[in-house]
Amino acid sequence: MAKCPYCNETITLDSTTKDSRDEIQKEVDGLIKKEVMYSCPHCDKVLGFAFFFGGLATGRP
Ligand SMILES: [Zn+2]
Repeated sequence: MAKCPYCNETITLDSTTKDSRDEIQKEVDGLIKKEVMYSCPHCDKVLGFAFFFGGLATGRP
C-alpha cells in the first residue's frame, strides 16, 4: 500500500479495492493520445502525469 507524499494518507491504484476513497483519481483527456493526471483522493495534490495511445488503435477507452 502506498502513501501520499503530501498528506501521508493511504492511496492505491487498485480500482477493485473495497475502500474506493483511497483510490487515486485519474483524469483522462484526449481521443487518440491519452493524457492521464493522477491526483491524491485525500488532498487533491497532483501525484504525476502519464500518457498512452488509445482509441481506435488499441481499443482502449
Ligand atoms: Zn494526499
